[in-house]
Amino acid sequence: MSGSSVVERVTCLGCGCTCDDVAVEVRDGRIVGVTPPCPVGRAWFGDGSIPEHVLVSGSAAPIEAAITEAARLLVESAGELLVYLGPDVSAQAQRAAVALADRLRAAVDSATSEPAAAGLLAAQRRGRAAATLGEIRNRADVLMFWGVDPTQRYPRYLSRYALEPAGTHVPAGRAGRRVISVSIGTDRGPTGADVALEVAPEDELAALSVMRATALGHRLGELPERLGAVPDTALQLTTARYAVLVHEAELSAVPRSPHRTEGLIALTQALNGVTRAALSSLRAGGNRSGAESVLTWQTGFPMSVDFSGGFPRYSPGSRGLERLRGGGFAAVLIVGSAAELAGELEARRAPVHAVVIGPRASEAPLTARVAIDTGVAGIHEGGTAYRMDEVPLPLRPPLPGARSTAETLGALLLEVRARLAERSG
Ligand code: SF4
Repeated sequence: MSGSSVVERVTCLGCGCTCDDVAVEVRDGRIVGVTPPCPVGRAWFGDGSIPEHVLVSGSAAPIEAAITEAARLLVESAGELLVYLGPDVSAQAQRAAVALADRLRAAVDSATSEPAAAGLLAAQRRGRAAATLGEIRNRADVLMFWGVDPTQRYPRYLSRYALEPAGTHVPAGRAGRRVISVSIGTDRGPTGADVALEVAPEDELAALSVMRATALGHRLGELPERLGAVPDTALQLTTARYAVLVHEAELSAVPRSPHRTEGLIALTQALNGVTRAALSSLRAGGNRSGAESVLTWQTGFPMSVDFSGGFPRYSPGSRGLERLRGGGFAAVLIVGSAAELAGELEARRAPVHAVVIGPRASEAPLTARVAIDTGVAGIHEGGTAYRMDEVPLPLRPPLPGARSTAETLGALLLEVRARLAERSG
């Protein structure tokens, strides 16, 4: 490819905002510009170059031979296999991976982080009051940021969805919204808020309880001085037309209370008694939310599903990587980017055979029996990805890819089926 062109309305998976309004400038087959400017998005797109290797035991091989070897290994390991859904693949590829797990009686798990998993479990216990980012943009007149400033990890969250844009019910944009910034120890809320509240980490759950009691209209006894400002802050939420609570659902540098999300869900539900309110959970990109959606509509569960009994079983207390570390699998099929997994595989107790199919599989820092490089969803591959609010969006790749993840997995599924049929016949 030569010359310069701009591909409009590209969907970025650099973070869970999944902005679908990005213009990508391509010159000589490389990405040279991304508009609007976003540092996280620019780093995620890079220049678009990726390896295109197919390796069997570390040596170059034809794709057909790699599929045959991968199928042989996976069928041999049926019942003792982990299928891991890594980031940067489409929902179509995730669906094919789940079909493979089903056929092979494998366990299947995803890159859902531990804090995000804890949030999913809390939502399963309590229900949740969520909203799409569009609803937040159009309706939120009071926003409370609970120990998070989205600017660093989710650079366009405030400008595109939550704070600055004019909405149908908030036509004045930022001027029509009240912002409450709550800092929990070193988890700082955004600067420039209308109300700022400091809460010590050990008081976090008490502060959430006081807010909830205030929203429910309970009479409060005397509070310690350090929680004195909490009821007034809660009253700002109760007088909103539409309040939105924003929190970080992913790992952060400082450990936080595992009950934070449940406390925020409970507060949001209490607020819905007196006004309308929603909880916005900030999630990482790479279509991680897609893995949860695909698993949910394929099996009924959002993560950590085990097909070893011949039907899907939910085992959230025993995540796939934890079992892998403990030597619980003979083999692992990694679908998607494997970079984050290197430490996990090194820490395992027993050797495990690995098949990696995804972007930069040949560069994965682990010894894989089979490695097949495919494109990055959103850069080289189309399909569907899910935003942090679980809204599915189409992918419009600005560059061509040598090999599609979903098609490669489809070919592997055919070969696995044939081998399983041979074995049972
Ligand atoms: S905010 Fe996130 S999704 Fe949007 S352009 Fe930046 S990195 Fe990409």
